[in-house]
This record gives sequence, structure tokens and C-alpha cells, in this order.
Amino acid sequence: MVKPFASSADRGEKRQSLEVLAEGVYALTAEGDPNVGAIEGEDFLVCFEALATPVAAREWLARLREHTDKPIRYLVLSHYHAVRVLGASAFGADVIVTHDKTRELIAERGAEDWASEYARMPRLFKEPGSIPGLTWPTATFSDRFTIALGGGRGDLVLAYCGRGHTEGDLVAWLPERRIMFAGDLVESQAALYTGDAFHRDWSTTTLDRVAAFGAETLVGGRGAVARGARGVEAAIAQTRDFLAVMLREVGRAHEGGGTLKEAFANTHRALEPRYGAWPIFEHCLPFNVSRLWDELDGVERPVIWTAERDRAVWEQLQS
Ligand SMILES: [Zn+2]
Repeated sequence: MVKPFASSADRGEKRQSLEVLAEGVYALTAEGDPNVGAIEGEDFLVCFEALATPVAAREWLARLREHTDKPIRYLVLSHYHAVRVLGASAFGADVIVTHDKTRELIAERGAEDWASEYARMPRLFKEPGSIPGLTWPTATFSDRFTIALGGGRGDLVLAYCGRGHTEGDLVAWLPERRIMFAGDLVESQAALYTGDAFHRDWSTTTLDRVAAFGAETLVGGRGAVARGARGVEAAIAQTRDFLAVMLREVGRAHEGGGTLKEAFANTHRALEPRYGAWPIFEHCLPFNVSRLWDELDGVERPVIWTAERDRAVWEQLQS
């Protein structure tokens, strides 16, 4: 049986839920579609992630506006992926913040990633004609970037934890309230996308650094909000386990002189019982295994995904 390409057949609307995590801290989750958030400062807003198009972003902003009318000073983007950044123009933010590497990745492969993600997940691109072009950050950092929220609200700390889901992921951390927005570095009850990842760094030192914050509420890139220290630990453990199983299965085939197709079949078999029913599992796995195979081959940086390469890998592994 031929599986429809990536998420191209996924046309069912997801239910969005706006959750108030603490006074002035908001998360919008959507049954496995990309999560977004917002944090109130004394007289301004920080938005976290921008969705795939300005039209999609405006729907989120309309819901946020039921809670606050403060102007948006900062838009923080956790990494360069198109479904997180191309809605940026809808926010009218004074400052768009990313990690240094994210700016480089947008310059290097932003256009290819846009075409790739549009073909993989067309449903997320509501009115794609509303996208004015690539999103460019106006402020970047290498290690930490602190936003003073004012009015006794403490700081919002943006931090780099090492290479992970991409080369330039950041997390947003509210130390007073122990709330973290982790982007795609952590998924909670959703499958991982690792097609642009550094599996060995991510599954070890990077997740160690994420865990060391000691968050008690965590909004991952997709899936439900993780609540309580235990819930956060479970989400991080799930992310680590998914990566560990991939490293074990792809590593075994790679070391043993097997083929990429065997690595895919073994990884699928090992992950499917626990993760098979989670959002985007089937969609992601061919791209994930392909990247990990390259990583084990010594290809340091992920090969750029293009719409054509996506189709070729899909046909090789999922058909
Ligand atoms: Zn991503």
C-alpha cells in the first residue's frame, strides 16, 4: 500500500485550545499541530512562535486579544522551520528574536524549507499567498537573551542549550513561574521531527541542559502542555527515548553493513508500538531516519531538504 506523501492527506481541522498557564502567560495547543504562546510584560507582549502564515497567525492573535490588548514588542522564534516563522508579519512586532544560527539557516536554506514544508503539511499553510517572504530576525544571540518584563513580572530568559532539533533552537524560560516554552526540543505526546537534527547532541547534553532548568510547566513544540515536575520529566524522557530508539536501531543497521531501507524498517518496528498513533509519526520517520543515517555517516550538517528530495526519500522508504 502506498502511503500518501507526508501530511498531504491530513486535511482535518484540529481543535485549538488556549490555556492560561499563569497570570499573563498563554499557550495555544492544537492536538499535535504546532504550539504557540505569549507572555505579558508590564505594558507589552512577547509572542512565541508565529505559525505558518499571517492568516493562521491572525486567528491566534484574535483569541489572544480576548485576554490582553498590549502591543507586541517581541516575537520570539524557537528555530527556522517554516511552519513556525512564516506568519511573523501578522504580529507587527518591534523586535523579532532568534538564535544566531537561525538567522544563518534562514539565509542558507529558508527558501528550500518553505517549499518543502508547504508540500509536506499544506493544511498548516492557511492562505499561503498571505506570506510576504522569508522572515528575518532583527535581534539574535549566541547564549542568552534576557527580556525584563517589568511591573514585578521578572525576566523572560531566552537560552541556547546546544544543537538539537536544529542547529539553532532556543528555549524561553520564566524563572519565577518555572514555565518553559521549549519549541521542538521537547515534544509531549507527539512524534519528533529529526530531519534537521543532531541526534547525539540532542539526546544527551542538549536535553540535559533543558532538564536542568527544572521547569514545572512545559509547552513543547507540539502536543499537550506538560504539567508538574513529573509531567515535564515525562515529556523530556519521551523525547529522549524516541531519539535513543532511533540511535539504537539506525546505528545497528549502519554498523552492521545494512541498508537505509532496513534501518527504516527496524526503527519503524521499534517505535511504532509506543509512538505510532501520535501526530505526524508516519510523516516524519523517513526524513528522520535519512538524516540520522547521514549523521552516522559523518555528514556534519543536515543536507538541505527540497521538495524533490522529500519525494525521493518518501518513495524510497514509505512505499
Ligand atoms: Zn521544527
